[in-house]
Amino acid sequence: MDASHKLIIALDVPDFGQMKSIVERIGPAISTYKIGHQLFTAEGPQVIHYLKEQGKSVFLDLKLHEIPNSVALAIEAAGRHGVDMVTVHATGGGKMMQAAVEASSEFPAMKILALTVVTGLSDRDLEQIGYIPSCEELVLRLAKLAQESGCHGVVASPKEIALIRSNLGDELLIVTPGVRPADSDAGDQSRIGTPEQAINSGASYIVLGRPVVKAESPALAVKNIIHQIHQIETSSTN
Ligand code: C5P
Repeated sequence: MDASHKLIIALDVPDFGQMKSIVERIGPAISTYKIGHQLFTAEGPQVIHYLKEQGKSVFLDLKLHEIPNSVALAIEAAGRHGVDMVTVHATGGGKMMQAAVEASSEFPAMKILALTVVTGLSDRDLEQIGYIPSCEELVLRLAKLAQESGCHGVVASPKEIALIRSNLGDELLIVTPGVRPADSDAGDQSRIGTPEQAINSGASYIVLGRPVVKAESPALAVKNIIHQIHQIETSSTN
């Protein structure tokens, strides 16, 4: 896969105008954008339609967690908007994930990704909310359940990719947020890794937000990270 196709940019911006400006400035270098709660709540499906008109793939990261019927209906709605990837919470359970996968069958290009444990949570945070096993154990348990439920992939932090790959094989897509180029600020990411760690341990896609959307030049930030990914891939195949 071309290095640029491995990179997904999270459009974590408050409005349509800022989204459009970033997408225009980045241009053809990025083919997939992630839309999250902030932008989707502010602007609604027009942001998906705009990206599709620009020929981009859309990752709608709504982290659905509801009764199976409600999730299935939301997945169908996303499919009708032409969404390419959508997230559900694996902690919503096997039946909920199966319902999501069944609903996506009408839209064969659409991938259902199960979120294991958000990268902002540490072992201590998990203990606080009553999840007893360590983060790694919980991620693996949820990733297995997602695979058994028919999900196309999972969202997991750089620290857990190798564990998922070695236990669940190469078929499952692994989408990885919580990535920081070695020289940038960690922000609120507590289980972070570098692009190198993520790619070398088997991530299918890397998701990057603030280091790009808050950069003075998003285009330059994207160019640099694509260059880094390319170098990592070239050195690992040599
Ligand atoms: O941190 P960054 O801006 O690169 O975040 C990109 C995406 O990673 C966000 O849209 C969010 O979904 C996810 N994220 C996360 N945990 C955090 C911070 C961000 O899963 N602590």
